[in-house]
Amino acid sequence: MVKRLIELLGKDKVSVSPSDLETHGRDEGYPQTSPPLAVAYAESPADVAAVLRFAAEEGSAVIPFGAGTSLEGSLLPLKPTISLDLTRMNHILEVHPEDFLSTVEAGVTRKQLNERLRREGLFFPVDPGADATLGGMAATNASGTTTVRYGGMHANVLALEAVMADGEVVRFGRPVRKTSSGYDIKDLLIGSEGTLGVITKLWVKLHPLPAEVHTVRVYFESIADAAQGAYALMAAGLPVARLELVDEQAVAAVNRHLGRNYPEKPLLLVEFHSSTPEAVQAEKEFAEELLRDSGAVGMDAAKTAEERTAQWEARHEAYWALVHMYPGREYLLTDTAVPLSKMPGLVKFAQELMQEMNLTGNILGHVGDGNFHTIIAASPEEYPRAEEFSKTLVQRALELGGTATGEHGIGLRKMKFMEQEHGPALTWMRRIKQALDPKGVLNPGKVLP
Ligand SMILES: Cc1cc2nc3c(=O)[nH]c(=O)nc-3n(C[C@H](O)[C@H](O)[C@H](O)COP(=O)(O)OP(=O)(O)OC[C@H]3O[C@@H](n4cnc5c(N)ncnc54)[C@H](O)[C@@H]3O)c2cc1C
Repeated sequence: MVKRLIELLGKDKVSVSPSDLETHGRDEGYPQTSPPLAVAYAESPADVAAVLRFAAEEGSAVIPFGAGTSLEGSLLPLKPTISLDLTRMNHILEVHPEDFLSTVEAGVTRKQLNERLRREGLFFPVDPGADATLGGMAATNASGTTTVRYGGMHANVLALEAVMADGEVVRFGRPVRKTSSGYDIKDLLIGSEGTLGVITKLWVKLHPLPAEVHTVRVYFESIADAAQGAYALMAAGLPVARLELVDEQAVAAVNRHLGRNYPEKPLLLVEFHSSTPEAVQAEKEFAEELLRDSGAVGMDAAKTAEERTAQWEARHEAYWALVHMYPGREYLLTDTAVPLSKMPGLVKFAQELMQEMNLTGNILGHVGDGNFHTIIAASPEEYPRAEEFSKTLVQRALELGGTATGEHGIGLRKMKFMEQEHGPALTWMRRIKQALDPKGVLNPGKVLP
């Protein structure tokens, strides 16, 4: 099979080296690994189409692969699989500053795009913690710290090109800010985790870099107060650009990992973007008043870009700090999102449950979107307990009208909640999968139980 694949694509585009097979049979957050049969490096939509047609004939599966940073097991082969790596399709094809628009190949990473955009005074806002590919980010409907202001992938991908399971290359959507034209298959592919088509090109929406940026780090005595403070800002309609929660364990882990001395209290990181200093100042003053009313016990503002970077360190490094603190442990992430008013209660519930179950971990979150994560560092003996914790937390989120995944996707780990979350809609999802991928070539066994 591998020999025929090499004949089809050429030997430079196929790898069976043990290190390639190992890195393509896993993701960043799922404990199991399972190597694919081969890794095919696509350099064009024609390569993608050739691999999909070949796999259909061979009866094997294809799993699209971006940066490999997903967290829920969506890259794990469950049957003989070709891992279809898109990272060589990494060209920024067009930038149109006048239209706030760029066209990129699927393997372009978000940092690569932002590097190119800086000279235009523009940026692409969606910022999952890792330097993911735009194709992978669309496939997981990624979001990040700025989503509260600028939206996630659904809001920022205007059109895309995909290769469908039968090898046809199709563009879905138009590169316009509004359209009411026909069924939105572009939005169906966003969040489909490589199960409906392989994204090869994206037309994305750009934003002007804000002239004024102001960041405040706000400390609280309890995580419940911090979450309530975040809710107060959202309920007041303040146009925050970022609103992140970091618990005291995460701050402690960052202190130990990076040798810092941050106060080990729960904190909110609040950022404002505006075009004038007056506007940003007014928003900041109003926010500070609301936060004090919610129990803030300390605030410090960043005045320079360097200070801002330092402030965000506690958020960006929290995951890696925990990983370094407990080498050899497994890391289990939860990713629930609930209606905004329910978020403070669920954050408190998560912290109490973690203590009750005697588990070690952090709570972090994009709380302006009602979305937060717990990261549990579990020894092999603790892992079943960590899974029980995750199940209980998701169960509670669903009871509150929320979702099992705010942004990381379903993969393998969250499939058990699909029936409860979607009910009869799951049958319609299965019909869509059957219509678009009748032979089950694309990432089989994921998303739909
Ligand atoms: C430290 C850390 C922090 C993170 N923080 C966040 C966060 O804040 N927000 C967030 O949303 N996520 C976050 N993530 C998760 C991860 O970065 C995102 O899910 C990201 O969108 C995955 O992109 P990727 O390029 O790595 O895709 P991969 O992991 O390679 O693939 C993810 C899924 O998409 C499919 N896929 C990949 N490329 C394509 C394509 N071109 N066409 C069709 N399907 C494709 C794959 O088959 C797979 O199912 C974080 C991960 C880490 C490690």
